[in-house]
Amino acid sequence: MQTIKVGNMSVKTGEKASGYVEVKDTEIELPVTIICGDKEGKTIFISGGVHNAEYVGIQTAIEIANEISPSKLTGNLIILPLMNRTGFEHRTMSMVYEDGKNLNREFPGNQQGTVADKICYTVVTEFQKNADYYIDLHCGDGYEDLTPYVYCVGAAAPEVVKKARAMAEVVNVPYLVQSPCGTGGSYNYAGSCGIPSILIERGCLGIWSKEEVELGKEDVRNVLRYLGVLEGDVSKRTYNPTDVGTVIYKNAGHTGCWYPTKRSGDTFKKGEILGYIKDYFGNVLEICVAEMDGILLYQVSSLSIIKGGSMVAYGENPNQK
Ligand SMILES: [Zn+2]
Repeated sequence: MQTIKVGNMSVKTGEKASGYVEVKDTEIELPVTIICGDKEGKTIFISGGVHNAEYVGIQTAIEIANEISPSKLTGNLIILPLMNRTGFEHRTMSMVYEDGKNLNREFPGNQQGTVADKICYTVVTEFQKNADYYIDLHCGDGYEDLTPYVYCVGAAAPEVVKKARAMAEVVNVPYLVQSPCGTGGSYNYAGSCGIPSILIERGCLGIWSKEEVELGKEDVRNVLRYLGVLEGDVSKRTYNPTDVGTVIYKNAGHTGCWYPTKRSGDTFKKGEILGYIKDYFGNVLEICVAEMDGILLYQVSSLSIIKGGSMVAYGENPNQK
């Protein structure tokens, strides 16, 4: 008999339960569903809402939690659909409501810090501690245009990276990025602790659709099937993700108005202009120029752009290699 414990919840082989796990010394209770398979096996942690306007990932996690029953599993699922709950409930875009921090920069967190640090600490010590594998569901933020792609951890032991890459390869998206980071992001930190971890980017602009959620759920189910946790074979996909190699994350050098010239998913040559930042009179403050041939993974879509915040992110175009 296997028992999975998260906070005050305790769920045994063959059981499914939903409830809340408190973030100590805060008013926050995180929603969680634990599904323990009829057959014992590995435990997969699935999270959404690290960024609270990333609705496709959140709704995907909610529906996966509702739809999978213990009879279909060899192993266990721990599903946290909404990590930044107060942000969601105050519609703060991606920041934690109480302290304005971005959870994805704060892992592993600590119990003595601000609310965001405490949420990260709780996720590490209550959720990640149970996990053999980890799937984190993201999208472009409410102000970001994004083409679907998948990250796997790179700053981890070679066998962890290999396993994470194999998980990422069954996700139905055109591009794969191996992250060099070992802290900051929830999945990055999990990877550095030995948990093969991936992050799926699907959806953007603070909207969601049934179609995107269906695709998101099939991504999750396929990773679970690949890991032998969910019954059935990995289904046919449209895409096999191609590694885009180096990714350039270019932050804005000025606050002002943003005028992009491309759309996410577009490819371009080194030296092409990707967008302009102008002041409130239309004077150009900054020109964003491609530093290599690339594929645009995401970019700011709002007219508003903020100095030091994201502007564009692009990888090497694998089709031009
Ligand atoms: Zn995100």
